[in-house]
Amino acid sequence: MTTEPTPTPAPKSMDAIMALCKRRGFIFQASDIYGGINGFWDYGPLGAQMKKNLREAWWQDMILNPAWGQKGPNGERVKCVPVETRIIQHPKVWEASGHVGGFNDPMVDDKETKQRFRADHLRGLYTTSIPSEEMTSAVSAVVSSTANPKVNIVPRATVIASTEGEAVEAIKDKKLQKLLGIRSIDEPFTPFPEMSFWRGKVNFGKGTESVTLEVVPIETLKAHASTVPSPFTGKPGHLTEPRQFNLMFSTYIGATATEDDKAYLRPETAQGVFLQFKNVVDSTRVRIPFGIGNTGTSFRNEVTPRNFTFRSREFEQAELEFFCHPSESVEWYKFWRDFRMNWWKSIGLAGDNLILREHDKDELSHYSQGTSDVEYRFPFTSPGFGELEGIAHRGDYDLTQHQKHSGTKLDYFDTTRGERLPNGSKKGERYIPHCIEPAAGLDRGVLALLCEAYTVDASRPSPELLKLHPRIAPIKAAVFPLMDKDGMPEVAEKLYDELFAKFGKTGFIEMDAKQSIGKRYARMDEAGCPFCFTIDQETLTAQTVTVRDRDTGKQERIGLDKVGAYLGEKLGA
Ligand code: ATP
Repeated sequence: MTTEPTPTPAPKSMDAIMALCKRRGFIFQASDIYGGINGFWDYGPLGAQMKKNLREAWWQDMILNPAWGQKGPNGERVKCVPVETRIIQHPKVWEASGHVGGFNDPMVDDKETKQRFRADHLRGLYTTSIPSEEMTSAVSAVVSSTANPKVNIVPRATVIASTEGEAVEAIKDKKLQKLLGIRSIDEPFTPFPEMSFWRGKVNFGKGTESVTLEVVPIETLKAHASTVPSPFTGKPGHLTEPRQFNLMFSTYIGATATEDDKAYLRPETAQGVFLQFKNVVDSTRVRIPFGIGNTGTSFRNEVTPRNFTFRSREFEQAELEFFCHPSESVEWYKFWRDFRMNWWKSIGLAGDNLILREHDKDELSHYSQGTSDVEYRFPFTSPGFGELEGIAHRGDYDLTQHQKHSGTKLDYFDTTRGERLPNGSKKGERYIPHCIEPAAGLDRGVLALLCEAYTVDASRPSPELLKLHPRIAPIKAAVFPLMDKDGMPEVAEKLYDELFAKFGKTGFIEMDAKQSIGKRYARMDEAGCPFCFTIDQETLTAQTVTVRDRDTGKQERIGLDKVGAYLGEKLGA
């Protein structure tokens, strides 16, 4: 049985999506007028509102009404509270969390071009003696079972990409092919799903050769740094051996700061929750099981920021730490994993582009009993996927670490457990709770929602539109007087005032009387506005308006006095 590559639709154009984001004010390069700054992005008016809608949807469904009011595995409504903690914390926090010692990416420099990349992002093209047509699953099994077969084999050419799919896209570029010494790609690369490599046929100048494309092991880079070809010049001898590079940004506190005043910008919001766990328990009535949520900016000095906002150096996270008794932790882990997947689906990511990937046992940290990632097929990872959110069973690791490093007791006294006393009450049990962590990235969320919503409909005069979910769309509705006369603007103004009063808290309500009606619709489609209400001649006589659906372009008439209720139902507000 040969292994068939899984067919996936052609990815959407990232260039077109980025152009729309800039044109319509969703996302701009930070410091744009100075030529930008690598790894930092700003949000324009529509993007800022869209991201706020995403953050508020998270807050509503994780803090105010956690998991949509569902009952948890303990048979009770899920309880969560928020905190808002600082970007800068005591430097010892990051020693305890493991970020000072362990938050490292191995990086490699190209000595010639001075460019730097993450060692695990290097993909190599290896000539292979096994022809593609013989790559049966049986052969695959043999190849994959050979321990580290590539350590002593040096690739013919290399390219930087975080997935094989991305690498395959990159080497379609003729300029890059020239640099890597590739004359032609004679047979397109196809994935071998159970394996982590792709196969194709390439001509390096001496006829067609069968090649595999896969990650270059760090061991190979260490042993053969001088012979592995550079991904920037195609030539060997330019790469350094991989070196560890800490991803935390550092700063100094105080005007006369010395090395002793060194502090770090947080690389994740989660640690702030662990630091305030005791204060939250002591100051509120929350009792285990319960969650503490935290949203805010995090910083990582990523070696190779790339793919628009996907890998930025400054980004926003929305993280929940859910504390529970160790004996119930696996059930809670499954609960949050499934809920988070459903949540992303509920705001517009339903379909084949979203998957839940459970980590293999050997990928897990020693303290974890499970981790899954919600992954989205971005145009730049296609046909592979990129992480949107990680849901991790963190055991008692974080609280134990902070207890050890701070000297403060962080255990919890549970009065609902332990043997029953003669007076009927429970003796109680003291323990360090286990923690389940759904950790989402809001910038990656916005990016996935934009990519999913981006649609090209060639049958329309202006083909590009954003099919954003009404809850996330920055503009909720638009009101158009068909003509700027006969009292239409006055009726439109009144309707606008009504909708603004009812829905203005959830996003923009627009009124537009300029240009032809077709152009006004197209402008709203491109901004992702789900509903446009038009006041025309018939409104003046029959008190009805047209409502146009963005996704189908279809129009229907509804009573002028029904517009508020109609929109309320559609927006779920
Ligand atoms: P990756 O493997 O892609 O570097 P990660 O596993 O290190 O991500 P986590 O530490 O689990 O990421 O962080 C939780 C979430 O924060 C991620 O799922 C992602 O949405 C977001 N995130 C992490 N790093 C970045 C970044 N550099 N830019 C934008 N978002 C990020």
